[in-house]
Amino acid sequence: MTRIKTQRLSTLTSKKNVQIPRIVEKFPNQRWRNIWRNMHMANIPNAWKTTVYCYLNQIIPTEEKRHRHNLTDSPACKKCGWTDTLKHRVTNCGAAKTIWEAAKALLVKIWPDSQLQDWFQTLLVLDPPTKQNKFVTVWLASGFLHYQLTKPLHKIEEFLHMLKEEAARLETKDDKLSQILKELRLLELNR
Ligand SMILES: [Zn+2]
Repeated sequence: MTRIKTQRLSTLTSKKNVQIPRIVEKFPNQRWRNIWRNMHMANIPNAWKTTVYCYLNQIIPTEEKRHRHNLTDSPACKKCGWTDTLKHRVTNCGAAKTIWEAAKALLVKIWPDSQLQDWFQTLLVLDPPTKQNKFVTVWLASGFLHYQLTKPLHKIEEFLHMLKEEAARLETKDDKLSQILKELRLLELNR
C-alpha cells in the first residue's frame, strides 16, 4: 500500500500573506497542494469542479453541520436517520452506497492492484496515491462526488450515463487529448 507523505503547512502556500483555507488548517496532514491541483485539472467539467470545491471545503450544509451550528435539532439524515455527514452522503446513504460500490469497481479497472486506502484517498480526498492514469483517476473521482452530491436518485444507469456523456464530449475535442481518451477507455464505459 502506498504511503502518503505529508506536506508541512508552511509549504502549502508559495506567496506570503496568502490566507490558508480553513480546511487546510483543520486537516494539515492532507497533501493540499496535490488536492487543489487535481481539483483544477483541465478537461474536467466546471460543474463537477464546483461540487468538488464545495465538498473539499466542507461548505455543504449537511444536517450534522447545521446541528453543530444550532440551526437544527438533530444531526440525523432526513432520508435514513444516520448522522448526516459528507462521508455519509457519498458512501453510505441508501442507494448512494451502490454508486460508491460502482465507483470503486470503476477505479479497480483503472488501477487493478489498488486497495481500500487507495480508494478512499482517491474518491474521497481527490488525491490518488499514484501518478499512473492520473487524468482518468481524478476525472472519475470528480464525477463520482458530483453525482453523489447533486443527483437525488442514485441510480447506477444514471451515474454511468453521466460519465459516458462526458467521455463522449471529450472524444469530439481535438487529438491533443489522445492520452486522455486512452485513459478513459480503461473504464470500458461503452461495454
Ligand atoms: Zn442517509
